[in-house]
Formats: sequence, structure tokens, C-alpha cells
Amino acid sequence: MKLLADAGVRSAPVPVERIVKSRGITLQFAPLGDELSGMAYIKDGLKIIGVNALHHPNRQRFSVAHELAHHVLHVAEITEAVHVDRGFRVLHRDKVSAEGIDPLEVEANAFASELLMPATLLADAIGDAGLDLDDDEAVDALARKFKVSASAMRNRLSYSL
Ligand SMILES: [Zn+2]
Repeated sequence: MKLLADAGVRSAPVPVERIVKSRGITLQFAPLGDELSGMAYIKDGLKIIGVNALHHPNRQRFSVAHELAHHVLHVAEITEAVHVDRGFRVLHRDKVSAEGIDPLEVEANAFASELLMPATLLADAIGDAGLDLDDDEAVDALARKFKVSASAMRNRLSYSL
């Protein structure tokens, strides 16, 4: 992913806050209602990401990456209109159409997943021995290394690297 190459990222965890700031986006953490994950908007040319400071740090990282996706992929949709994310779930892509999820959110979640758990870094971390998806401890250890939730890691691992 070009964002990672630009930032010189070669090991986990991916420094998502640094990447956001390097793109001139203002990152704000604030205590929000539990159902709110984050928001993205561009006002008078100022790029802003807001994240719920009360959520678990791993979830905040995913929210930062998700909102960054909107700034990279959906500029028109977040200009002069605040995009608010309410507890987005990381769904398997094949469940998405059935559940009528907004395609923008699907794109942003896929972007966030690949940004935080890039194929090359995952392959390095897993090594030649491979990983047994039924081995909860191994999946948890990998999630800790990448500073993501175990469910986000399981979701990522369900797609090819
Ligand atoms: Zn969103």
C-alpha cells in the first residue's frame, strides 16, 4: 500500500496516527457516546478526524484508519458534510450486500484492515510455519503485535494475504 511505503513502515504495529498527521489531517480525540466510533470531515479546506477517546485503544486505531480511508477515498462525500460513524461492524464482505451496508463503509473498513494489517507485514509475522486459525492464543498474539482487536485480526486473516 502506497501510504505505508510513503511513511517508511516496515514493521508492526503500523503508526496510523503518524500517517494521518503526515497527510495534514487534524486528529482529535474526544469522549463521545459509546455508539459513536468516529467522524471525518473537511471544512474550509481543513481536514479533520474525530475519534471516540473512550473506546479501547485498539478500536480507536481502527477508527482512525477507517476515517483516514474516507479522507483518501471519499473526499467529495465528507466535504462540508460531517460523516459520522456509529459502531461500524467489521463484516465479511460476502455478508455485506445481504445486510444492505453502505458501500462507502465497506470500502473504508477494507482500507483500514489492509492499512493496519498489511499483507507483507502479516506474512513476515506469521512466517513459514503458518498460522492455525483455531489457535486462539496465536491469533491473539498476532493481534497484540499489530495492536488490533482479535476480531479485526480474524476478519483480516479470512482473506488471502
Ligand atoms: Zn465511515
